Amino acid sequence: MNVVLVTGGTGLVGRAIQNVIENDKRKNEKWIFVGSKDADLGDKESTRKLFEHHKPTHVIHLAAMVGGLFHNMSHNLDFLRNNIHMNDNVLHTAHENNVVKVVSCLSTCIFPDKISYPIDETMVHNGPPHSSNYGYSHAKRLIDIANRGYYDQHGRLYTSVIPCNVFGPHDNFHPNDSHVIPGLMRRLYDLCKDENTKDKVFTVLGSGKPLRQFIYSIDLAKLIIWVLREYDSVEPIILSVDEAQEKSIAQVAETLAQTFNFKGKVVYDTSAADGQFKKTASNAKLRKYLPDFQFTPFEQAIKETVDWYIKNYDQARN
Ligand code: NDP
Repeated sequence: MNVVLVTGGTGLVGRAIQNVIENDKRKNEKWIFVGSKDADLGDKESTRKLFEHHKPTHVIHLAAMVGGLFHNMSHNLDFLRNNIHMNDNVLHTAHENNVVKVVSCLSTCIFPDKISYPIDETMVHNGPPHSSNYGYSHAKRLIDIANRGYYDQHGRLYTSVIPCNVFGPHDNFHPNDSHVIPGLMRRLYDLCKDENTKDKVFTVLGSGKPLRQFIYSIDLAKLIIWVLREYDSVEPIILSVDEAQEKSIAQVAETLAQTFNFKGKVVYDTSAADGQFKKTASNAKLRKYLPDFQFTPFEQAIKETVDWYIKNYDQARN
């Protein structure tokens, strides 16, 4: 029996994996989803107890300190230290407990700032990350270094995936530390409380011009489960929508405004920082393995997320 422990199991991606696995159960797998209430992965002893209790054979390591542009900019040291501690505790405890496979999460936002496009898996360490999120980026990059070390010294198959921006149900909608889609959703929700939105202004921070690839959490969940079951390489793999599916922040804002049926004005506050202009990633490696994988159309995924948020507002992370 394979015992799969999912750290960060209560977060955006963890909840999506729970959702997908409900309909994709295999007899030889037992899935366990844990959050910070089950163990503080920043603490070695707490991590050790968690592994001793569940005795996993496989780990999907999602737990991380995660935040949007503005939270990253003001807390780079916290992002660096908290993530380094969690990652080292999880990977080393996995090794000590003979876990045969670990799939950890990097992110496309950790790639070098000055880079050629499209970005691919070979470029992770090719230069400094964008100054806005250097703490998070360096902590994440070290996962890949550690994975190589565990392979070279101990023959372990500890690997990593590199998702682009994720969105979906169970995201973090807090106004101060959310990513762009849940942040905009939160503001639209508040604006649309009153049915008459004609005279209201929806302000989007930044110029609206930066381009991003967004993956629906349900699609990402399916791909991470595939990596766990089928992808047998230490080398990271980018899990992103196709390059042609890249969206500008303005397109995202307009799609959200339409989905919320917002009738007022959309305004771009150009005095706010834009972050990296683009970070287009190539999913060519993924496409070699899964040429026919169908990503959920953006508008449909946004609709499902907005419907979920409206229905679950009281329990959502606001
Ligand atoms: P969330 O912020 O939604 O969830 C974070 C998870 O980590 C929660 O389950 C949280 O537990 C857990 N956690 C945080 N701190 C600790 C701790 N000290 N001990 C134990 N558990 C802890 O994150 P996402 O689902 O968005 O992200 C999952 C992974 O994907 C992360 O590694 C992230 O870096 C990566 N990623 C995310 C992207 C995105 O756009 N969201 C993009 C690319 C990569 P609890 O809720 O119980 O406190």
